[in-house]
Amino acid sequence: MSTNHELRLYNSLGRRMEDFVPAAEVAGLYSCGPTVYAYPHLGNMRAYVFADTLRRALRWKGIPVRHVVNITDVGHAVADTETGEDKLEVAAARERRSVLDIAAYYTDVFLVDNAALNILPADEYPRASAYVEQMIEFAKKLDKDGFTYQLPSGLYFDTSRDPHYGELALMSAEGQLEAARLEHVEGRRRKTDFALWRAEEPGKRRVLRWDSPWGWGAPGWHLECSVMSMALLGQHFDLHTGGVDHRELHHVNEIAQSQAFLGDGRPWVRYWLHGEFLQLGAEKMAKSAGGAPRLADLTEAGYHPMAYRLFLLGGHYRSQLDFTTAAIDAAQATLRRLVARVQPLRPLPSVETLAEALLISGAATQHDPAAQRLLDTIDAAVAADLSTPKIIAALQDALREPALTPDGQRAVVAAADALLGLGLATLEPADLEHHRALTDLSAAEKHAITELVADRTQARKERDWARADQIRAQLDELGVILTDTPEGPVWQLR
Ligand SMILES: [Zn+2]
Repeated sequence: MSTNHELRLYNSLGRRMEDFVPAAEVAGLYSCGPTVYAYPHLGNMRAYVFADTLRRALRWKGIPVRHVVNITDVGHAVADTETGEDKLEVAAARERRSVLDIAAYYTDVFLVDNAALNILPADEYPRASAYVEQMIEFAKKLDKDGFTYQLPSGLYFDTSRDPHYGELALMSAEGQLEAARLEHVEGRRRKTDFALWRAEEPGKRRVLRWDSPWGWGAPGWHLECSVMSMALLGQHFDLHTGGVDHRELHHVNEIAQSQAFLGDGRPWVRYWLHGEFLQLGAEKMAKSAGGAPRLADLTEAGYHPMAYRLFLLGGHYRSQLDFTTAAIDAAQATLRRLVARVQPLRPLPSVETLAEALLISGAATQHDPAAQRLLDTIDAAVAADLSTPKIIAALQDALREPALTPDGQRAVVAAADALLGLGLATLEPADLEHHRALTDLSAAEKHAITELVADRTQARKERDWARADQIRAQLDELGVILTDTPEGPVWQLR
């Protein structure tokens, strides 16, 4: 039985599965982070759970990682356009707070949600506003090398200078994305050209502004990621992740300007991985759509953050997922069953890598073939482009498998959780009790429950115990906890 499968990842650059081999001892990983002008919603957080899954897979394979997640606190225009107002400045005006307050507040919220979802902290969370001088230097070099032209609205990258422009998005040289770029920019030569520097419009003074050779203004959004990633991971690094929407525009532009800047004929970053959207109803959950649910909404409704994580990992990161109440209910129920089965096995051993799991389970010394088989299944699953649904299935098998030794079972559970990050070593069943507030009920639901309670009272009065018990069971199914008091029955939701 072979264990230790080669890690294969789906590279958006070329759209194919490839063996992952880091260029140096420590793999460099950059994930496009949030623009901190509003609460991150559930769909936004999917991208970070995906990046965390990748990190855990690399750790499992014994590959050390340096992970950078940027915080965009300046430069990101409303609707991702080249000109116009910044998202943060609009938010500051709306909330009557300073731009710095807005950025600090929503950065904290983002980090709190990361922690709640058990996402391993990044090594660095660079703030774009702290790197503006480096961004200006970067743009100056592109300017000097003839990759740019200047307009009143700023300094633009000339995409006609890059014969490979748009490869990541599978664009033709003419730029098939033209239809998607509705914004008219006066003087722009090609619709694919993008702003490296966004100059202040006359009479419209920005709140966050820097002086540059192209006038007072702010950096372009794409420039930020190129500069911060190179500053913290070196000029070339291994992996770049983001939501699938970044594949068509943001990452295309990051690549164009970075390869022009480096000019060494080598690909800037070798592996580009993109996570799919979360669908709410039929719509992609984009922050700008407004009103999309947040993690805090779920926890207030009685769901554990790990139920959301399990829901996400129940789908592959490259598949769209539909977020529904039924799906999150099912995830919470599955998690409750997992925790109940894991509890008697505690304490779980500390396992982070395949090598540790093999050693602790006894599989390495052939003492536990059943554990070895399950660890092989888990390793094969993670190596096949991070197949988390298969890891969850193997975890469930491990909890049912009678042939496993207790140590083997503990090791397999700990191994699966090192990749899934559900916190099975410490989650308590009580954490997963689902308490719903009465305000969650619709008027019709409340009415139906009140009727059942009254029917039961009547049945008891008539000494019809069978019927009273039957109604009680019905109420129980609805999640109603009924208590008989001298004043009559009172009820609450479980
Ligand atoms: Zn980015």
